[in-house]
Amino acid sequence: MTVYVGWSRNTEVTVEIADLGCGAGEIVCLECGGDGDWTKFYPEPETLTEPMRCVDCKGTGRQLVSI
Ligand SMILES: [Zn+2]
Repeated sequence: MTVYVGWSRNTEVTVEIADLGCGAGEIVCLECGGDGDWTKFYPEPETLTEPMRCVDCKGTGRQLVSI
């Protein structure tokens, strides 16, 4: 299924969506790829004392969308 993301919701991304009912869907996080780890994007990961959680999914690796 296609989801529309970005500030103006004009970027199309094709993903697998789990239908949770009532118009809610769950997808793999589009920012971190589903591992919930933001450390790979941090410019100086060696300065971190613990792994940084993904900003978008808060470390869960999943996001909710409307379907
Ligand atoms: Zn994420």
